[in-house]
Amino acid sequence: MTTTPNSEKTNLLNLSLPGLKDFFADLGEKPFRAIQVLKWIHQYGTEDFDDMSNVSKSLREKLKEIAVIASPEVLSQQISKDGTIKWALKLESGQAIETVFIPEKNRGTLCISSQIGCVVDCTFCSTGAQGFSRNLQLSEIIGQVWHAMKYFGSAKVTGNRTISNVVFMGMGEPLLNFEPVVAAMNLLLDDNAYGLSKRRVTLSTSGILPALDKLLDYTDVALAVSLHAPNDELRNELVPINKKYPIKMLLNSIKRYLERSNAARKVTVEYVLIDGVNDTTDHAHELVKILSGIPNKINLIPFNPFPGSSYKTSSQKAIKAFEQIVQSSGMIVTTRKTRGEDIDAACGQLAGRVNDRTRRMERKEKNSIKINTILDN
Ligand code: SAH
Ligand code: SF4
Repeated sequence: MTTTPNSEKTNLLNLSLPGLKDFFADLGEKPFRAIQVLKWIHQYGTEDFDDMSNVSKSLREKLKEIAVIASPEVLSQQISKDGTIKWALKLESGQAIETVFIPEKNRGTLCISSQIGCVVDCTFCSTGAQGFSRNLQLSEIIGQVWHAMKYFGSAKVTGNRTISNVVFMGMGEPLLNFEPVVAAMNLLLDDNAYGLSKRRVTLSTSGILPALDKLLDYTDVALAVSLHAPNDELRNELVPINKKYPIKMLLNSIKRYLERSNAARKVTVEYVLIDGVNDTTDHAHELVKILSGIPNKINLIPFNPFPGSSYKTSSQKAIKAFEQIVQSSGMIVTTRKTRGEDIDAACGQLAGRVNDRTRRMERKEKNSIKINTILDN
């Protein structure tokens, strides 16, 4: 018997539920097979077709011949003093991505990546500084959740849902990798896969408006928006995509999303506080003004420094004063505690393993071509 090499087999971790149904239909199998196999893969973390005990022996043999369940490999695992865990995962392409688990009192949040690098190139973000390399495939996005779930043990087996929330706040701009990100979110929400509530899956975006405007046609999740500045002049500088999609357009798009979404009643507004750049009391007043009329929660994030950045974290005094102004306007505001700092797992510190300066600069050049293309279109 000749065996098919793994590289030519279909990776079932790369298939959404509709994709898996098509796959089984092509084999002449009924749609319920897709549900059975989906459960084995995503609820139990099964990699071996022989473990799928409710699948007939002949079908298992067929699957072994034509399919694999292949996820990124764990390169390293670091556990912070505060319990935060950071995994570096190695992709088939040889590149690495990072995934972070943040335990809190009443929940456990997994922060996942959607791209290697990022073309948006926000001035305060180490992922942006790395340039853009490529989009992640579905298997590489959902593979991050799959690994973490296997590490803690399947909720079906342990009875504990250790990962209660998933946020797309790792490396990359999720709305610039639309299809695989939507497929991953739908697997997170599917009761036959991870079964998370739609309020507990959060997409964070810098504001890619055409993609945001069509998101609810495909899925429904909670929304976080990286605002970081209360006026266009400053936001153009910090979040360059603002030149194409300025604040007013962004706020209108958010309003439309909130009107139609069942998952998001409020938008989470992310605001990185950078010393002397966007953290004055005037900025705080301006922020309150532009957000009035939009149901929101404001998440202040003290800037996390990274090598090569000249920005500094705001002083405690400035953070408190900013928080106070927003709070006294009646808006809900939280200041994010930095987690996993000792293992470089804090927001904006995720940059994969590619630290070689020359390669970073090469990618940065390519990146500037791509961002210009986005801005020109
Ligand atoms: N691209 C998406 C999601 C990934 S970034 C977005 O921008 O929303 C996730 C969050 O980390 C964003 O709010 C981003 O602004 C924040 N972040 C990036 N760099 C940071 C840094 N150096 N310090 C603190 N937060 C940072
Ligand atoms: Fe990209 Fe988000 Fe970083 Fe901006 S903050 S460069 S959009 S990952």
